[in-house]
Amino acid sequence: METVSDYFGSMVFDDRVMRATLSSEVYDSLQKTMNENVPLDMSVANAVAAAMKDWAVAHGATHYTHWFQPLTGVTAEKHDSFISPSPDGGVIMEFSGKELIQGEPDASSFPSGGIRATFEARGYTAWDPTSYAFIKDKVLCVPTAFCSYGAEALDKKTPLLRSMAALNKQALRILRLFGNTTAKAVRSYVGPEQEYFLVTKEMFDKRPDLRYAGRTLFGSKPPKGQQMEDHYFGAIKPGVAAFMEDLNVELWKLGILAKTEHNEVAPAQHELAPIYTSANMATDQNQLTMEIMQKVAARHGLVCLLHEKPFAGVNGSGKHNNWSIATDQGVNLLSPGETPYENAQFLLFLCAVIKAVDEYQDLLRMAVATAGNDWRLGANEAPPAVVSIFLGDELTAVLEAIETETPYKSAEKTTLKLGVDVLPKLPRDATDRNRTSPFAFTGNKFEFRMVGSSNSIACPNMMLNAAVASSLKEYADRLEKADDFKKELHDVIRDTIREHKRIIFNGNGYDDSWIKEATEKRGLFNYRTTPDCMPHLLDKKNVDMLVGLGVFSETELRSRCEIMLETYCKTVLIEADAMVEIARTMIAPAVLEYASSVARTAAEKKALAADLPCAMETELVKKLSSLSDQISRRVDALEETLVTTRQIDGAVEQSAQIRDELLPKTNELRIVCDEAETLVAKKYWPFPTYGDLLFGVR
Ligand code: ADP
Ligand code: MG
Repeated sequence: METVSDYFGSMVFDDRVMRATLSSEVYDSLQKTMNENVPLDMSVANAVAAAMKDWAVAHGATHYTHWFQPLTGVTAEKHDSFISPSPDGGVIMEFSGKELIQGEPDASSFPSGGIRATFEARGYTAWDPTSYAFIKDKVLCVPTAFCSYGAEALDKKTPLLRSMAALNKQALRILRLFGNTTAKAVRSYVGPEQEYFLVTKEMFDKRPDLRYAGRTLFGSKPPKGQQMEDHYFGAIKPGVAAFMEDLNVELWKLGILAKTEHNEVAPAQHELAPIYTSANMATDQNQLTMEIMQKVAARHGLVCLLHEKPFAGVNGSGKHNNWSIATDQGVNLLSPGETPYENAQFLLFLCAVIKAVDEYQDLLRMAVATAGNDWRLGANEAPPAVVSIFLGDELTAVLEAIETETPYKSAEKTTLKLGVDVLPKLPRDATDRNRTSPFAFTGNKFEFRMVGSSNSIACPNMMLNAAVASSLKEYADRLEKADDFKKELHDVIRDTIREHKRIIFNGNGYDDSWIKEATEKRGLFNYRTTPDCMPHLLDKKNVDMLVGLGVFSETELRSRCEIMLETYCKTVLIEADAMVEIARTMIAPAVLEYASSVARTAAEKKALAADLPCAMETELVKKLSSLSDQISRRVDALEETLVTTRQIDGAVEQSAQIRDELLPKTNELRIVCDEAETLVAKKYWPFPTYGDLLFGVR
């Protein structure tokens, strides 16, 4: 039997294949491009393209595509075949360096937020050699960036790569100051833990809300939800186990290190975690993982729901973005060291993150803002919309000691004099987890837990990289000028703690008192919804930082803000339309039909004997009639609001109207429909209920 190591990465043009198929000159020069951003030579590109094509054809590929991540949130690809006519009437398979490096997809159908109109109509894709090419469905997929001819980014990869370059540059400046002359690059690394639900395809097909919106727009809570907490880490059902097994094989072939899988808190909810890799590769692989999950589910008669909140009242799905920074020599810069000197460096990087998260809380919030994620964040669920950092008690105590310049008492009660040379041995323990924190330090990495399950992780990571690069830049500017490095280092750390300690919070993030304290005492942002936060992308401090570091141009930021809000509006409008249709054509008729059947029963009873009791029938028909009237009125009200909302010009204004007027109307309609569900006999209800969906997979 074939073992995992036989097929792991078999569909990836990875380092093993490159070493085996490229000449050593070509290999070395490609490595330089990958690791040190040295521009690629055309002769090298030709050689790589030829090797890639031969390898791909040998693995059954007939086509290639420039695989990219437009601002729609999903990946895009347009297939071209390798074939080219040969003089003898046959074909040869061709793929040139030029075709590898640059492509020209029809850009007009992707959102650009007005960029292409102001520049040029066309866009182009450019090979990203730092993420491996792979074969999917007989197509060689070349990861690419997508830009306009004015070089404005039209995708999520370009700013991510720019943010990684900014972080690399600033982190290297810091390392040099600590005497590190050998590190050639610093990169951010990410391991995204992906949550999802599985439901049967049969039931999915019967729910138009799931088909249109990916989430249920109606549905009352089942008697058994997640109260028992028996699903978390519980035994995996055979149907799910078969899906996971199949999924692992597909992911492993694509070189994705799917590592752990388990049930999550809610029934039918599961999680998959890969082993971490560079932020760029992790982003590509996570997009691919989401796609493969849906494909594999279909093979098992299942549907994989990636929506942030498929079921009201049941835990939603997120994506924990585990993030760290490390050198090309494998040194994790967020890992406490053994010596005081190493610890000083660690503390400086730690402070850079603290400062970054405090100064750019709003950017992190925005990076995960979508209509779907609004149902989790700021809606009494994990985590809150307020960004804060969990450090754990011990590390917090170390920082407090530095801030107040008082001796630090460690757990062993030894008192240490402070100063960079005599920093305490820092806690390495990662066990004290606080699941309620949106941004938790877990020993040698930060776990950003606000990311939605369907979000691309490109956005949170580009914002995180950029914000941290901005802290490091400020530090490097100060430290490079200092006469006394050690003293300045100490002061930089102390100043950061003084200025930014308000962002550190080790308590329960779900507590209402925290939200009060965070917003009233600490002045932290609490942007509950996408329309609340997105316009702040264009706040001066954010534009200055992102443009200053070369991560975005101002035009790109404007276009992104526009696109994000437009997407929000479209999503909610589609959901509201679907609710009108479902309430009117499925739910209201079911209520009427059931009421009429109950009324008939009463009439039949009366015909049989005038004195037979009919109180239940009478009461029920009254209730059902009142509900059907309310449904009808609320559908009409929602429809009217839909009309006025559609008339509003401008994404900022329209999204605000949706938040303030339209969403409350959808909630009102939902309440009466869900109440009807609890009264109408099951056989009259037009689609599977939460109970059916959540406990339907065997
Ligand atoms: P958990 O948080 O569930 O206890 P782990 O801490 O083992 O599990 O890892 C969770 C995720 O974090 C995995 O995807 C893992 O690869 C990733 N991860 C672990 N170490 C790092 C690191 N240094 N940088 C980035 N991600 C990491
Ligand atoms: Mg975790």
